[in-house]
Amino acid sequence: MPAATRHPVTRFAPSPTGPLHIGHAYAALFAAGAAGPGQFLLRIEDIDPTRCRPEFEAAIFEDLAWLGLSWPQPVRRQSEHFADYRAALDGLEDRGLLYPCFCTRADIQREIAAAASAPHGPDGALYPQTCRNLSLAEQQTRMATGAPYALRLRMDLACMAVGPLSWHDEDHGEVGAAPQKFGDLVLGRKETPASYHLACTLDDALQGVTLVTRGEDLFEATHVHRLLQALLDLPAPGYRHHRLLTDASGRKFSKRDKAPTLRALRESGKSPADIREMIKA
Ligand code: GLU
Repeated sequence: MPAATRHPVTRFAPSPTGPLHIGHAYAALFAAGAAGPGQFLLRIEDIDPTRCRPEFEAAIFEDLAWLGLSWPQPVRRQSEHFADYRAALDGLEDRGLLYPCFCTRADIQREIAAAASAPHGPDGALYPQTCRNLSLAEQQTRMATGAPYALRLRMDLACMAVGPLSWHDEDHGEVGAAPQKFGDLVLGRKETPASYHLACTLDDALQGVTLVTRGEDLFEATHVHRLLQALLDLPAPGYRHHRLLTDASGRKFSKRDKAPTLRALRESGKSPADIREMIKA
């Protein structure tokens, strides 16, 4: 029996960038349900200081407790662990798997527009590797000017370093990992020594998560996370990518679309049992 089905450790890992809506309730209850007799953890993914706010974090705790969920303390808050992500980046850098990228979004768009062909991946056009072959001297000159830079993965070398990989998906069985379709992605952002992929993968391992449950919109990300686990010598959890709740017109609920927030539903008189009923089937 795969480790993940014994006493799973699962987690719900929201970013405090807005109020939780009904889709979040589904994801949180899904993760808690999947833990069964195991453990359900809560993690706050707040590496982006421009979008995350303490009042949204406080509302997450309040909404989830109202739903009837509980989780061990202390809650891991990613913004308190940049040293962990930095250390992982340093290790990859020492192995020659990262390079600094000074491009702005506009630089990248210009480069892509001028190229004869622009290969695409799950997140859109792949980075055209403009900064990949800068000489050490050139990198140092640019750094000396204080130019901000991101750290990108040398995807082909990283894939070669670990060989073929797969992950166990409870709905899809053994899935072959194909992270190369993302190209040279950013692992360290310009403004923080982390990225979603890095912080999430590292934290799942550090917190002993054995079954990652999340929406199917993050299915593609798992290709990258499996690669990072192999590169960083981390255990590979099992995965379940659940459906996304949709509104009456079939569109997925999102913060942007002003989906009904849990707070608004609560204030309109709905009970936690009503919410569970709303998200059934
Ligand atoms: N923090 C991510 C989000 O808010 C979820 C990450 C994950 O479950 O892997 O969408």
